[in-house]
Amino acid sequence: MVRVLVLCGTGDAIELVAKLSEISDIEVIASLAGRTRQPASLTGTVRIGGFGGADGLTTYLQTQKIDYLIDATHPFAIQMSDHAAAATKAVGIPSVMLVRPAWEKVSGDRWIEVESVEAAVQAIPVTAKRIFLTIGRQQLAPFTTLKEPWFLIRSIESSDVVIPNSKILLDRGPFSLDRERQLLRDDRIDLIVSKNSGGEATYAKVVAARELDIPIVMVQRPVMPNVEQVESVDRAIDWLQDRLKGKFN
Ligand code: NAP
Repeated sequence: MVRVLVLCGTGDAIELVAKLSEISDIEVIASLAGRTRQPASLTGTVRIGGFGGADGLTTYLQTQKIDYLIDATHPFAIQMSDHAAAATKAVGIPSVMLVRPAWEKVSGDRWIEVESVEAAVQAIPVTAKRIFLTIGRQQLAPFTTLKEPWFLIRSIESSDVVIPNSKILLDRGPFSLDRERQLLRDDRIDLIVSKNSGGEATYAKVVAARELDIPIVMVQRPVMPNVEQVESVDRAIDWLQDRLKGKFN
């Protein structure tokens, strides 16, 4: 049996784990950070919680005799990806990152591109009165400094951070275009703050914003570690199959 550790945190990771579990001679261990109280269901062996930094992950890879690591965390979960890169290098096992391509700005998009969530707060125009915050719940604190606008905050689970002038919408993608259009209209949104997550599941808001001529403060992706990357679940499986061929033939 070949042991494959999949670092999860995206819908792609769930799909990847399910597909890998169908391949014989592979034991998949799916790892979750444990941030959500009701994580999406995963097939096979699941472990939950941090490893204790890059050193902790290095020890885990050794003691659990992991042969391959697939980093399918969110593109903004950069600490985990950095630790995975360092630990797999230290142990000397092959690893790959599954990273959906970033969204590209197209004609009609009114993006204000910024490098961080903190920079997004600074970039919000004073004219924005009704803001749709779609950056998850972990980095809401910087927005508490803004007293003027009203916020619609969408996340999978609620946050401990309270933004007084706001409405909370607990929801998990994928989101349809019809629904995103409706939401932007119903709440009279005049600005969106988003991370450039890439992928289809949350892209409808970008299309709806384009149609309704609403600007988006778009947080660009952080710099990723220098690790081989694939762009889809199927390419991640190909990556592994190629290595298994080399191992077994
Ligand atoms: P992060 O800053 O990169 O990671 C912080 C710490 O959480 C890591 O150092 C690690 O702890 C632990 N961790 C993260 N992912 C893990 C995993 N799959 N298995 C075990 N431990 C993990 O990540 P984050 O931005 O806080 O995100 C947390 C989780 O939510 C990630 O799995 C990510 O994929 C997912 N997520 C993040 C975003 C986002 O915008 N950041 C969006 C959607 C989903 P130790 O150092 O103790 O090992």
